[in-house]
Amino acid sequence: MPQRVGVMGGTFDPVHLGHLRVAEETIEAMELDVLLFVPAAVPPHKLGKTTLPFEHRWQMLRAATEKHPRFKVSDLEQRLPGKSYTVVTLRKLSEAYGGKAELFFIVGMDAFLELDTWWHFSELFELAQMVVLRRYGFSESEMTRFLVERVSPLYTYSASDACFKHPHLLPAHYLSNTWLDISSTRIRQLVKAGKSIRYLVLPEVMQYIYSNRLYLGEDLFEIQTMPVHESMEWRTE
Ligand code: ATP
Ligand code: MG
Repeated sequence: MPQRVGVMGGTFDPVHLGHLRVAEETIEAMELDVLLFVPAAVPPHKLGKTTLPFEHRWQMLRAATEKHPRFKVSDLEQRLPGKSYTVVTLRKLSEAYGGKAELFFIVGMDAFLELDTWWHFSELFELAQMVVLRRYGFSESEMTRFLVERVSPLYTYSASDACFKHPHLLPAHYLSNTWLDISSTRIRQLVKAGKSIRYLVLPEVMQYIYSNRLYLGEDLFEIQTMPVHESMEWRTE
């Protein structure tokens, strides 16, 4: 039996409970053997915006995932030169598994509907089964329309398999997951404003952010003080 491998790309700046919960639900729904978090080294969609160095984002992902038996973090995009293109990442992963893995690419509905702006996007549907995550304000019918109009008119919904199928391309799935209204942007803003981020990220990640004085912004770096209730005395166990 080929391994069923989920791939979740993103900036993870930082990883939060929204990412982790949806990863957990995808493992259950798609019966995955492993779920790889693949942080982008140079996110093509975020050029011009600031992101933390890869090393910090990777360490936070490691801390957040190491206790989960099926979660793994990949540094593949850091090892590849240049921008992080998903098609290239999926090709490399497929090779790394000797062509013996079934890949599932996990993507939020918002990002999915912009997939046609991604580099060589149609090849994505040859490399991995898409798992599209439900997002507030979007409906499954938008996924149907995108598949048929932008990818191929031969995609049809199969009720018996509960997914979209195609004669040559890989199936695409819609996941009716829990979407916690959490974003990395909000977390960065809260830290910068000296506000609590407890219950939005794992304690390990919160600890890492404070220990390394992340997201304070250069101007705030010296004067920023941590909220007392989230001081370094926070215990993770
Ligand atoms: P930012 O605010 O910096 O854009 P983000 O919170 O959107 O960060 P990303 O690293 O951009 O996080 O997202 C990585 C992947 O996780 C994307 O596929 C995105 O759709 C998905 N994702 C982001 N936030 C959530 C959430 N709250 N619940 C489920 N999936 C999420
Ligand atoms: Mg985002």
